[in-house]
Amino acid sequence: MADLIRLTAAELAAEIAAGSVSSVEVTEAHLARVEAVDEKVHAFLHVDREGALAQARAVDERRAAGERLGPLAGVPLALKDIFTTEGVPTTVGSKILQGWIPPYDATVTRRLKEAGVVILGKTNMDEFAMGSSTENSAFGPTGNPWDLTRVPGGSGGGSAASLASFQAPLAIGTDTGGSIRQPAAVTGTVGVKPTYGGVSRYGMVAFSSSLDQGGPCARTVLDAALLHEVIAGHDPLDSTSIDAPVPDVVEAARNGSVAGLRIGVVREFRGEGYQAGVLQRFDESVALLRELGAEVVEVSCPSFDLALAAYYLIAPSECSSNLARFDAMRYGLRIGDDGTRSAEEVTSLTREAGFGPEVKRRVMLGTYALSSGYYDAYYGSAQKVRTLVARDFERAFADVHVLVSPTTPTTAFPIGERADDPMAMYRADLCTIPVNLAGNAAMSLPCGLAPEDGLPVGLQIIAPAMADDRLYRVGAAVEAAFQARWGHPIIEEVPAL
Ligand code: GLN
Repeated sequence: MADLIRLTAAELAAEIAAGSVSSVEVTEAHLARVEAVDEKVHAFLHVDREGALAQARAVDERRAAGERLGPLAGVPLALKDIFTTEGVPTTVGSKILQGWIPPYDATVTRRLKEAGVVILGKTNMDEFAMGSSTENSAFGPTGNPWDLTRVPGGSGGGSAASLASFQAPLAIGTDTGGSIRQPAAVTGTVGVKPTYGGVSRYGMVAFSSSLDQGGPCARTVLDAALLHEVIAGHDPLDSTSIDAPVPDVVEAARNGSVAGLRIGVVREFRGEGYQAGVLQRFDESVALLRELGAEVVEVSCPSFDLALAAYYLIAPSECSSNLARFDAMRYGLRIGDDGTRSAEEVTSLTREAGFGPEVKRRVMLGTYALSSGYYDAYYGSAQKVRTLVARDFERAFADVHVLVSPTTPTTAFPIGERADDPMAMYRADLCTIPVNLAGNAAMSLPCGLAPEDGLPVGLQIIAPAMADDRLYRVGAAVEAAFQARWGHPIIEEVPAL
């Protein structure tokens, strides 16, 4: 049974469909792994043992009845605690939602259930997805399975760590500025931010609505594609959902190739602040792409240098508005409601106690940036930068099929190192943020270990909006070539922990 946790989602689904193992056995093996290691890793905020086993039993019964199962039926998954789950707590990593049991499923949750995917539980995250280390969770940090004294990235550190510690073969994240890709990079896993509008935001607690996007996390490119296919597609409940066919990401992942592609290397993504070993592995990836038959050219995107500053005006502005709904009346926590205080006082006491320091910082920044007299100088200027970033991408994609860069400037940093230095923390997303501002699609996949610390390095592939399939075509080719070179996947053994 222990061996079941080593298998990929595609392998598990095939075994379950063939009847050589049941979904209940697969689910029990993963729950046993959670039991054995999660006290140390702290990837999960809530494990839904009963719900998971019930879902697994339902899949086994459908199979026994001769039903044809979907491509991921019976496979366990770890769900970021930002998606609502009917009857199962959803905290967004915040005390303010403590005790709230959602009365409905997010569209992503619903689609997973309909596909027979087994939701093991809800994963840890930076409060309201604000952060790059999972240290901003109100419920304590998550450890990186490669080295538990280091961060697993953020905000979706719990999802990434659950994969890297083999507690789940699949996970779901959300990416507003890098929260799927950056944790993937620093844990040696695969993460994809789909095209904005590709995956429904209905029931995904809003941080910055014009940037937020849910997406798949896995240990292989094919597994990510299979999950992408399950969760993507039009949803009338999300007004920004794209009403068009989802690109065939699974076919692309099964037919990896870069032959004949023109690939652009973003010139701006190197220099000061980039770890030498990260750049070394990135340069080797570029050489590999050439060997595999791609034509590689350098591309300049000058406005990317301004993207981080623009993001830290736009995201806080939207969050200051989105988080106004946490007023102590509608959800979760309520402090000081003893009959002597006004509603306003109760709201204020609850928000004071319920929000952590980073969330308060963002709400204050955003309120300031949107205030009359400052709106044009801050929010207005940031929106102009956003347009320039989108134009840089447009210009680049007129010439190349995909762009590549390191996913992050450094490997996983020690827990605590950047906790008191917001600017250092924000720089973890230097290479990922432009993609969110423009709304296009990007993947991070492992490209080796940095020589100086032995920690994973991520390669970022960026595609134009609605060309998510290109990520998988290129990603699968790179993954296969690296694994042939190393003779094994990046995570060679299930970590002992
Ligand atoms: N680290 C970035 C932030 O703190 C991005 C977070 C995210 O993508 N949710 O805002």
